[in-house]
Amino acid sequence: MPYIRFENLNKYYGKNHVLKDINLGIEKGQLVTLLGPSGCGKSTLLRCLAGLELVSSGKVYLDDNDITEVSARDRGIGMVFQQYSLFPNLTVGQNVAFGLKMKKVQKPLIDNKVRDILGLVGLSEKIDQYPAQLSGGQQQRVALARAIVTEPKVLLLDEPLSAIDALLRRNLRIEIRRIQKELGITTIFVTHDQDEAMVMSDMIHLLSAGYVEQSGTAIDLYARPRTLFAATFIGNYTILPAADFSKATAETVDCQNVAIRPEIVHMDRQPAEDPDQYHLQGSILSSFCHGNIMRYSVKSGSILINADQIYEGGEPLQEGEQVFLSIKKDAVVEL
Ligand code: ADP
Ligand code: MG
Repeated sequence: MPYIRFENLNKYYGKNHVLKDINLGIEKGQLVTLLGPSGCGKSTLLRCLAGLELVSSGKVYLDDNDITEVSARDRGIGMVFQQYSLFPNLTVGQNVAFGLKMKKVQKPLIDNKVRDILGLVGLSEKIDQYPAQLSGGQQQRVALARAIVTEPKVLLLDEPLSAIDALLRRNLRIEIRRIQKELGITTIFVTHDQDEAMVMSDMIHLLSAGYVEQSGTAIDLYARPRTLFAATFIGNYTILPAADFSKATAETVDCQNVAIRPEIVHMDRQPAEDPDQYHLQGSILSSFCHGNIMRYSVKSGSILINADQIYEGGEPLQEGEQVFLSIKKDAVVEL
């Protein structure tokens, strides 16, 4: 049995049907991400699990207990939000100690736990400082420490990195993942950022308009999107009507749309022949430097296909240059 289960969960705000018959299981000790565009219901699902929001119908189970009607404070769930939400008039140490004090834990034990957890998040020296003296990233680490010090059964992280600078954000992803693994704490992470989801998660659930669109590992979702929405949201797929692609490759493709990742498109100046690949001829329309890769947009008849090349130096291909494209047939996603 999964550690957390949502069973036929529905949530309405007035007439707005925000969560539509959600059935999800989350395994103990995993970091699971809810990924999806703004407004698809990620925060609402977390809030239903935390008990901050009542469900309209369906059940929520934690560790085989039906917690649908249990109050938020009795669920044993810790939460970190996008906003830092620390107590500004308390020091870092006092912020982290807060939940333990509420639970009437003995003072010496509190001091020990606070010290340990601040060590874990790398903020031991900041124990006597106030939130305003810390950077955004440091404040978020304190919020994380405050949430995990009480040893919750489940940790919920609702876009905790969204307000943080790109570079720091990338470091914090890895930090959070390290801490989560070290503690083995079952964690649900919410983000609209596919890179963040890919890097951090054991499992990703892609949400769209209140539905679970697709669930899987990062590789499942990235390489094998099952719907048009998934292919649009994840990766940098070129999505083409199959009929147009058939015409350009002079091969029959039996589906509605094809989705092609730019990294599976190989460019050459010479034509190639291989029955396991689709072959097309085209010309470079434009190129964009992403630092490590060059992304070329190639025009072939009526279609445009993106092709990535690892950039190792030298002059990129020029606009108008003729190229031959080869695309592995079994890597083309048929939708
Ligand atoms: P996400 O976190 O994926 O961006 P939310 O769960 O916050 O999405 O919101 C999902 C939908 O529910 C949106 O249409 C939003 O407007 C609506 N919604 C969220 N919270 C409330 C609320 N407290 N009252 C009314 N509607 C809400
Ligand atoms: Mg949200």
